[in-house]
Formats: sequence, structure tokens, C-alpha cells
Amino acid sequence: MIFVQVASFEEWRQKARHLLLARVPPAEVDWEGEGLFSEELPAPEAGTPHVPKAFVEAAECAACFREPRKWDLLYRILWRIQHENRQLLQVASDEDVSALRHMVDEVRRDSHKMKAFVRFRKLGDDYIAWHEQCHLVLERTAPFFARRFGPMRWAILTPDRSAYWDGMDLRFGPGVPRSQAPSDDAMEELWKTYYANIFNPARVKVAAMKAEMPVKYWKTMPETALIPGLLAGAEQRVREMVQVEPIVLEERPDLWAARLLQAKAPLGEIAQAVSRCRGCELCEKTHAVFGAGSHAAPLMLVGEQPGDQEDKQGKPFVGPAGQILRQTLAALRVPVEHVYLTNAVKHFHWEDKGKNRLHKRASPTQIRICRPWAEAEIQTIRPRVLVCLGVTAAQSLLRPDFRLTRQRGQLIESPLADKVLATFHPSYLLRIPDPEERAQQRALFDQDIALAYQLSLEA
Ligand code: SF4
Repeated sequence: MIFVQVASFEEWRQKARHLLLARVPPAEVDWEGEGLFSEELPAPEAGTPHVPKAFVEAAECAACFREPRKWDLLYRILWRIQHENRQLLQVASDEDVSALRHMVDEVRRDSHKMKAFVRFRKLGDDYIAWHEQCHLVLERTAPFFARRFGPMRWAILTPDRSAYWDGMDLRFGPGVPRSQAPSDDAMEELWKTYYANIFNPARVKVAAMKAEMPVKYWKTMPETALIPGLLAGAEQRVREMVQVEPIVLEERPDLWAARLLQAKAPLGEIAQAVSRCRGCELCEKTHAVFGAGSHAAPLMLVGEQPGDQEDKQGKPFVGPAGQILRQTLAALRVPVEHVYLTNAVKHFHWEDKGKNRLHKRASPTQIRICRPWAEAEIQTIRPRVLVCLGVTAAQSLLRPDFRLTRQRGQLIESPLADKVLATFHPSYLLRIPDPEERAQQRALFDQDIALAYQLSLEA
């Protein structure tokens, strides 16, 4: 058995490469071992192992996962990619691949939470924040703060590591326990005043807030002490929303959309806001795709999320599924100015499948966070008829337990529009392998869209 200890992804990468070229199988390496990387290792063969880019990216992310078992897992997957299946990462049912995906998701979520929940306090000319990370995401996330707060000098302290930005360079040092974090609260008072002003009680759902802003972060977030008092005066304050700084709005689609609606902002302004939204981690990999069509359309169709083509072209429903929908609308001779097309989630969520970016369903949290944007489109356009295409749109806009199998094609009571119904997402039709069944389901889809069009023509 070879015992190896590593402290960083780069170190793991070098040692894994050596072991791979020396043909040492995963069962003979203990990456959490107490021993040293032995010089008696078999010499590596010459050459460079070809490692898929998707694996390197996933491994770099999973390296931030807090548990040391990650190194064993990464080497095992690397070995299996080389010796067993070069497409291994595409086998979602594989236990190792599933564990890797879990780690990647957890790390991304924690990084996003750091971006959303870090609060700086002013200390002299500098700004200091203390944050408790679940995983080791500081190095990965600190460049975000350097970009965002470029002109400031700041430090983010965590119990594991600390990051320092002097306006030019980003450096990292040892961690700082909570007891040593600065307690100067001039910044705290400023932040409390500011938070009291941006607080939107009309949108507060305490359970959802706890899910998004876990209680463990509350102690470093001064505004949380204000919440009970603010909730007590909620009704009065609904009408008192004031200016919100863009920096916070970018992370709060609910506040931003509410403010734009209150100001009766035109659709173009809402589209611009969506293009800058950082409400969830989906904004990190793709562009926002806003709705398209007439701003006075009586018929609005809402799909799930943009796909690969939509992300590349920046328009909704231009990929293969969109072609099906457009064929149906064309066959019904629906005028272009009669329709508005959009999606429940504005960013393409995908996973790497070799050369392709494969659609991945957005999580319930991402769907919920993004919902204010689709609601803002609906409230601005006020279509007579609203059609949810697929269960994601229906569950986002209508009811979380909506079932297409029970309610497809039926009129549903909803405050969103006079007439609301749901049908299949056209991508579902593309996935039906049996031609006969596909034709049957297509006929139902066409029938639902025809009904929606007919209703939208009625006064
Ligand atoms: S998916 Fe929605 S909430 Fe998430 S970043 Fe994009 S626009 Fe914002």
C-alpha cells in the first residue's frame, strides 16, 4: 500500500499523474494515509495521460469538498476513465460518478452562499468579513470579491483560511477563529439601517428564508436581528420600499423584480435586470435568456429553461424543441405579434457529456429563486391566456404538486391570467422513441395549443 497525503488540488494532480503513469491501481493507494509519498514507487512510464477537460473541472471543484475521501474517489475515477471507460462521467447511475456530482453540487452551493452571505465591516480604511464555510471554497470564491470590490482593501476570515485583497493582489493565509474576528460594529449599524430600508415584508416566507439563508450564517449577518421587528410592521412597510443598491439586487431576484414592478418598469428594463441577475449559481456558466415576442401578447407560453441553442443564440425556443412549438403555432396561423415566449428559469442548466452540454433540470430551489422574473413578465404583459409548457413551468407558476398526467389541457384557476392551462414541454415529444406514441402525444400537444390560441382570441 502506498500512503499519500496532499493538501491541494495541484498537489493531488501531480501525484495522481505520477501514480497513473506508474500503473498503480487505486486499491494500492491510500490518499488519507499517514505515511509519505514513497520514493520507491515504480518509475512512471513516459507519456501524458489524456484526461477529459470535464473531469479536470469537476475534480478541481470536488477538491474543495471538506472530507478527505475525495482524493481516493478522484483517483479511482481517473483510473477508471483511463482503463475502463473514457465516457465514465456520462454514466449518471455509476456510484463513483454520482458521488463526484454530489461533491461538485455541494461545493458550488457553498460558494454561492459565500457570495450571498458575506458581510464586510469597516475597520479603519479596510473592510473585514468573517464567514463560516461548509466546504473549502474560499480560494475558489475570493476572486469574485476581488472583481466586485476591486477598489476596496478587504479580508475575508474563515476558521480554515483567510483571503486578503490589497486592490492589486489576492493572497491567502491561515484561518482565524471566530473569537479573533473583529467586532467593530460601525459597519454593522450601517448595514442594519440599509437592510431595514430594503426589507420587503411582502415577499418574506420565513421557512424559505431559513432554507436560503441557513441559520448558521445569521450570527454574522447583522440584519437578521431586525427581522422579527420588521415583520411586525409588515403591512405598513410593503408600501415603503426604497432605493436598493444594485449590488444586493443582483442577488435578490424577488426584491429586484418587486421594485421594477412597483416602478412599472418596461419589459426591456426587466430583461436588463435578468441579464445581471446573480440570484443562483446558474448564472456562473451561461447567459440569461429572457423572453421574446410582443409586449402586448394575449397569449404567453412559458417553458422550463433555455437549452444549448437558446443559450448560444440568446433567444427562447430556437433549438429542436422550440422548432416543434413553432411548427404548431405556424400550422395554427398564430400571428407573431400574438405570442410571447419565455421560460420559468432564465439560465441554461447543463452537465458535461463529452462534447455536448446536456440539459439538467434546475433544482427546486433554483426554480423558486427565479420565479419572480417570469412573474414580472406575466404581470407586465398581462396575457389573456397563459400556457405552462412542461411540469417545471407548471410547478413553478401554479402549484408545487402539479401533475401533467392529471391536469394537462384543463383550465386552471390562477391569479396569473384569465385562462391558464398546462401541456407537455415540446422536448418531451422529442424523447418519445415509439413513432406511434409520439404522434399521439403530439396530437394532444397541438390540441392544447390550439385551445389556448382559441381562448386568447375570445374577448
Ligand atoms: S437562473 Fe434565474 S435566479 Fe438564477 S441567476 Fe439566472 S436569472 Fe437569476
